[in-house]
Amino acid sequence: LGAQGIIYELALVAYMDQAMEREVQRVRQAFLSGRSRPLRFRLQQLEALRRMVQEREKDILAAIAADLCKSELNAYSQEVITVLGEIDFMLENLPEWVTAKPVKKNLLTMMDEAYIQPQPLGVVLIIGAWNYPFVLIIQPLIGAIAAGNAVIIKPSELSENTAKTVAKLLPQYLDQDLYVVINGGVEETTELLKQRFDHIFYTGNTAVGKIVMEAAAKHLTPVTLELGGKSPCYIDKDCDLDIVCRRITWGKYMNCGQTCIAPDYILCEASLQSQIVWKIKETVKEFYGENIKESPDYERIINLRHFKRILSLLEGQKIALGGETDEATRYIAPTVLTDVDPKTKVMQEEIFGPVLPIVPVKNVDEAIDFINEREKPLALYVFSHNHKLIKRMIDETSSGGVTGNDVIMHFTLNSFPFGGVGSSGMGAYHGKHSFDTFSHQRPCLLKSLKREGANKLRYPPNSQSKVDW
Ligand code: NAD
Repeated sequence: LGAQGIIYELALVAYMDQAMEREVQRVRQAFLSGRSRPLRFRLQQLEALRRMVQEREKDILAAIAADLCKSELNAYSQEVITVLGEIDFMLENLPEWVTAKPVKKNLLTMMDEAYIQPQPLGVVLIIGAWNYPFVLIIQPLIGAIAAGNAVIIKPSELSENTAKTVAKLLPQYLDQDLYVVINGGVEETTELLKQRFDHIFYTGNTAVGKIVMEAAAKHLTPVTLELGGKSPCYIDKDCDLDIVCRRITWGKYMNCGQTCIAPDYILCEASLQSQIVWKIKETVKEFYGENIKESPDYERIINLRHFKRILSLLEGQKIALGGETDEATRYIAPTVLTDVDPKTKVMQEEIFGPVLPIVPVKNVDEAIDFINEREKPLALYVFSHNHKLIKRMIDETSSGGVTGNDVIMHFTLNSFPFGGVGSSGMGAYHGKHSFDTFSHQRPCLLKSLKREGANKLRYPPNSQSKVDW
C-alpha cells in the first residue's frame, strides 16, 4: 500500500466503525424504549417469527440448499423442525418463566417481599456459523427474544445465501429496530466486536472464540461460546456392531461430516477395525446407494478452503473406505481410516468433514486416558451392552454432552443444556436454558418503611452482640 492507500484504508475503517456504532446505538435506543419487555410483545414477536418460517419455508430451504447442497427434506428435518419446536416450547412456557419467583426468607426479612425477577440483559450480539446456517442463528434469537432483549445477528458469510435470506425476511416479520441483521465477514465482525453489548453469543471455531472473548473482556461483556472440538466415540467389544455402525454412519456423514457434535474419531480394540469398516461400508451403500454423488441425502463441503484442508488430513493415512474426491463439486466420499497414529494431523484438529479415523486402543482404561489427555470435547459417545462401562466412561471423563449407545441424539432434547466445557465452549442454550442465558436473575427485596423497631437489632452500637446473622 502507498501512502494514499493507507489513508484510504484508515478512512474506510473509521467509516465502518462509525456505521457499526450508529447501528448498535439504534438498537440500544429501541431496547431502552422498553417495548421488548412486556410478555405480550415477546409472544407476538415469537409468533411472527413462526409465521415467517412457515410462510417463507421455500425461500429458507432454497437458501440452505444453495449453501450446502442439502435436500429440502434434510434441511427441513435438521433446521426448520428444530426452530419451530423451540418457538412452540417458548410460547407454551414463557408466561411461567417470566413471573417473579418468591424465595425463602430469614428472620430479618420475614415480613418483607423477596423474589427473583428474570430481566432482559439488553442488546445481545449473536454470531453464527455456516454448517447449520439457519438454526444456529435463529435458535439463539428465539431465546433472546423470549428473555426480552434487543438483538443484532451476524450470520456466517460462508453460508451467504442463508445470510442474505435471513437479512431479507426478518425485517418483514419482526420489529425492525429491535432485531437487526448485519451481514459481513471478518472485517465487519471485527468492527462489530468493538462495540459494547450486554451479551455475546458466538458459534464457531475455538480460535475465533478466543478473539470474541478478548473483545468482550474490554467491556466486561459476558459471553456464551458454542465451539467445537474432537468428539470421541468409544466402541466396546461387547455390543451389537451392526446397530452401532449404522448409528455412527448416520451421525458422522450427515451434513457431509460438518456437524459440531459429529463423532470425530473412533476408539476401539484393533481387532474390531475390519468389521467396523465392513459394516460402515454396507450402511453407506444402504443410505446413499451405489453412486453416492447422485444421492440427494449426501451434502458437499462448504468451500474450496475447507475441501483442501480435509484432503490434507488424508495424507499418509491408510484409507480403508472411501477417499474419492471431486474438487469441482467439493465432493468427498464417506471415508474411514484405520490404524491411525494419534500423532498425525488428522488427530490434531477437528476434522469437520466426512473422514472417520479409527485409533486402536487396548481397552476402556486406555480409551479413558486417551480422552483425558486431550482438550475437553463437545460430545462423547460410548457404545456397549455393559451399562456399568458406559457409566464409568461418563464418570471418569468430561465433555459438553454425552449420548450412550447412539450419536447426536442428546442435541434433540431441549430439556438439556446444549454447550461445551473447557475448550469446547462455555455457557449453554436450548429451551429454558436459552431463556436463562439471556436473562439476569435479579434478586429483589422489598421492605416496608414501618416496623423500624425490629431493625434496632442490627444498628450500632454493639450490633453484633444483638443479632446472630
Ligand atoms: P465460520 O467460519 O462461519 O465462523 C463463525 C463466525 O465467526 C462467522 O460469523 C464469522 O464471520 C466469524 N469470524 C470468523 N473469523 C473471525 C475473526 N477473525 N474475528 C471475528 N469474527 C470472525 O464458522 P467456523 O468457525 O468454521 O465453524 C465451524 C466451527 O464451529 C467448528 O469448530 C464447529 O465444531 C463449531 N460449531 C459449534 C457449534 C456448537 O453449537 N457448539 C455449532 C456449529 C459449529
